[in-house]
This record gives sequence, C-alpha cells and structure tokens, in this order.
Amino acid sequence: MGQLASKYIPSTLEHFADPERFPLSGTDGIEALNKAEQIDQYIAAINNSPINILARRDTSYVPSFHAVGKAIPPPDSPWPAGQVIWMDPTADNGLPHTRAPDYICLPSTIPSSQITSTVLHERVHVSQRLHYDAWVKLLKDAWKMAPWTGFFPNSIDERRRINPDIFGVPYFIWDSNWVPLGLFKSKTSPLLKEIDIVWWDVKTRTLHTDAPPGWSEFFGTHPAGEHPYELAAYLIVEAPADNKAYKELKSRLSSLPSS
Ligand SMILES: [Zn+2]
Repeated sequence: MGQLASKYIPSTLEHFADPERFPLSGTDGIEALNKAEQIDQYIAAINNSPINILARRDTSYVPSFHAVGKAIPPPDSPWPAGQVIWMDPTADNGLPHTRAPDYICLPSTIPSSQITSTVLHERVHVSQRLHYDAWVKLLKDAWKMAPWTGFFPNSIDERRRINPDIFGVPYFIWDSNWVPLGLFKSKTSPLLKEIDIVWWDVKTRTLHTDAPPGWSEFFGTHPAGEHPYELAAYLIVEAPADNKAYKELKSRLSSLPSS
C-alpha cells in the first residue's frame, strides 16, 4: 500500500504494446477482483476484522466503471509489468495497492504526474508476490531480516492494519529481535492512512514506539517501515543516495528474476 510518491523520474512513457496488459475497468475489473479474491482472500480478511471494516467506512471496493485514458509506463527490469485495474477513487481510501497474482489497483483519479512513481512502487510489490523465495534471500542478505513465525498478543492483533501488499506473507524480524508493524493510531475512528509504525521486541515481548538501536542509522527515518516489503518499495522509488539500507538492497537487485 503506498502513498502517492513523486520523486521517480521516468525514462520512457508509452502505452503497453501488449493488449492483454491494457488496464482493466468495468466488468473486466470486477472479474479480475473476483479472481484476486479467490487467491488472496483480502476482502474476506477485512470482513473478519472490526477495526479494518471501520477504517474502510464510506468507501466502496469496486473498480472504476468507466475506462481511464491515462498512460501506464512500460516496466524496467527487474520489475514485472503487473496488470493495472482502475479503481473507484474511494476504494481503500484511494491508496494504490496490489492484489494476487499480479494486479495493480490504482485510483482512477490518480494525477498523471504520479503514475510512474506509483506504478514502480506497486511493481516492486508484484515482484514480491511472484518471487517470495528470492525476496526472502535478498532481505536476509541485505538487511538481516527473516520471516517471523511468532504471534502478537490479542491487544496488538486488534489494532493491526490489514495491508494488501503484505497480507498473506509473514512479518519479518530484524536482527533476530525486532518485528516492525503498522497499527492504527485510533481504535475508535481508525483511518487507513493514519498508522503508527511500532516494533515488537520478541525477547521481552513488549511494544516499542521508538525505533530500536541502529534501525534509523541503517534504514533512515522513513515512515513506511511497517514491513520490509514496504521499505523496499519506498526506497527503490526514492533511491536516497546516502541511505545504507538502499545501498545494500540496490547492489543485490540483479539477483531477482526479471519478470
Ligand atoms: Zn506499498
């Protein structure tokens, strides 16, 4: 799930030549979202979580019913193209996101100037969906992060934001000690865009609102660290030259499959 990023400068801006990759809307969009739901069961998970239902009040998770004539740029290696679905602007509060197996859901009202950076962010998520094992290895080698198999207490579970881009994959533990996650700021009137990034200390089983020692020096103070998938997507778009985590990641991106 991404805020609309704006820093990435495109090298080319053309329509896809492949008609199968033409962005979907209307009944094609409904069909695609049904297919996605059969695989990832994202909407079913939301409907089982009171706080996540509440956070999506007054929204409508449906595709745009009209076609949208905005150009989608071709992918740059190693990022897979994915398949864009134009969404109703209220769907997931207008947050761009991905669905299984390789759908990229964009609000129909997205400004054209933000499409390239946003699509790149979502294509990183598509790569994560398609190449889980390669990403596990990459995150271990680059960031000392590994899938975590533990459980949070109920009090934390009840406040977790369900993010489609990391739904169905494990949380990751950093330095064998810290599990970052995103919690809704408000329990009573949660908003999809208002979450706190916190860290679960698996050794003491306590929650920390401040980054653990060494975290900010390595990852920077970027607010999107709820999961390494999100950190990676943000860093790849922003490409901050002086960021250590980005440097380690960038030098290993060639290990990812290229489609
Ligand atoms: Zn994201």
